[in-house]
Amino acid sequence: MDNKILENVIYVLFGILIQLLLYFKLIELPELFMIIIGFIGFAAIVYGLLELAENLRERKTINPVIVEDEVHHINYCSNCGEEISFGTKYCPKCGHHITNSD
Ligand SMILES: [Zn+2]
Repeated sequence: MDNKILENVIYVLFGILIQLLLYFKLIELPELFMIIIGFIGFAAIVYGLLELAENLRERKTINPVIVEDEVHHINYCSNCGEEISFGTKYCPKCGHHITNSD
C-alpha cells in the first residue's frame, strides 16, 4: 500500500471516528462546536474517499504489459500486432516498416 492511499484511508477513518464520537455523545461540547466538528468529520470522509478513488484510478492506468516490454526490449508491429525484437526495422510477418513511434 503506498503512502498516498494510506493517507486517504486515514482521512476517512478520522472522519468516521469523529462521527462516532458525536453520534454516541462521547464528547461533550457546546452545540456550535459539535456542528463544526461534525462538518469537519464529514468533509474528511468525502475528501478521503474522492482522493482514494482518484489514486486507485491512477494506479490502474499503469499498464504492466508496457513495463514488461521495456525490460525485454520488445516492440509490436503497428500494422499486424506481431511481436518484434527491439531494433528490427521491418516486421517479419507483414513487412511493415517499423519506426521509433511503433
Ligand atoms: Zn506486421
